[in-house]
Amino acid sequence: MSDVRNVIVIGSGPAGYTAAIYAARGDLRPLVFEGSVTAGGALMNTTDVENFPGFPDGVMGPDLMDNLRKQAERFGAELITDDVTEVDLTADPKVVKVGDETYLARAVIVATGSGYRELGLENEKRLSGRGVSWCATCDGFFFRDQDIAVVGGGDTAMEEAIFLTKFARSVTVVHRRSELRASKIMQDRAFANEKIRFLWDSEVVEVHGEDRVTGVQIRNVRTGAETPLEITGLFIAIGHDPRSELFAGQLEADPDGYLLVDAPTTRTKIPGVFACGDVVDHIYRQAITAAASGCSAAIDAERWLQDQG
Ligand code: FAD
Repeated sequence: MSDVRNVIVIGSGPAGYTAAIYAARGDLRPLVFEGSVTAGGALMNTTDVENFPGFPDGVMGPDLMDNLRKQAERFGAELITDDVTEVDLTADPKVVKVGDETYLARAVIVATGSGYRELGLENEKRLSGRGVSWCATCDGFFFRDQDIAVVGGGDTAMEEAIFLTKFARSVTVVHRRSELRASKIMQDRAFANEKIRFLWDSEVVEVHGEDRVTGVQIRNVRTGAETPLEITGLFIAIGHDPRSELFAGQLEADPDGYLLVDAPTTRTKIPGVFACGDVVDHIYRQAITAAASGCSAAIDAERWLQDQG
């Protein structure tokens, strides 16, 4: 059993590190659990980040996260590269466990992010940031005048496909079924777009390319027939899973698992517990919005602690 900390931050993406920077500069000496496998968050899996303000020439995702980490450390945040395995947020003080180790805190900031669903193909991870993407807003710009594909049939997939037509020469939507799940209005917009074509009853079974994506193998799920499709970009839009299981039964979540906060603050239903970044946000899902909400969470926590005396 350890001393009672002012603040524990769970997560080390843009939201967690920004919360740590602000909390550290507020003299709260935060303890940050960075996670193990995914320490540094989603941007560790990408190459160029060109839309994070302050980097006119862009920045590599891992470099940006390393800078945020150093900045948090510089102001006195204590970082532990391990996964939180259990929490009791209703206890006073709040309990955070990492295996057999127990940590106590007056306030907790949850910044565990969300995982992009993957197709589960061999080359998918290796070519992430090299043609394979999960974010049209982030990467669309790299695909000017190129032929690309979007996998998925929901609203997000249609939004991404329509957005990508601003840059790409053609966008092929690959969907496993013979009709879309997307809302009528999104379907109408996609069908009306001359740059978008649909491959129905189809799935991507292989991603081709050594250093960059050069194409994919498409299988028709009804006939089993396989055909190659030459593309240089593959956008996967089959959903996200917010990492909120750890808090199930304690923090409120929407039906998809995103944590609910008293927006525009980051307060959850439990006093002294704040949530920020992609574990809350299913709308914007950007590094800058995650960082911004991390800042809000630290300020919310600081004020709450002050009110407690
Ligand atoms: P994340 O970055 O997902 O971080 C979550 C953190 O929580 C991780 O550190 C993880 O280790 C930790 N964690 C989870 N569970 C636990 C636990 N039990 N214990 C301890 N720690 C835990 N956005 C842009 O703005 N520009 C881009 O160019 C861009 N490119 C992208 C490219 C890719 C391939 C991906 C996947 C995303 C991209 N994004 C981009 C989106 C951006 O990365 C996310 O919006 C942002 O990282 C969300 O920040 P976050 O801090 O909420 O969560």
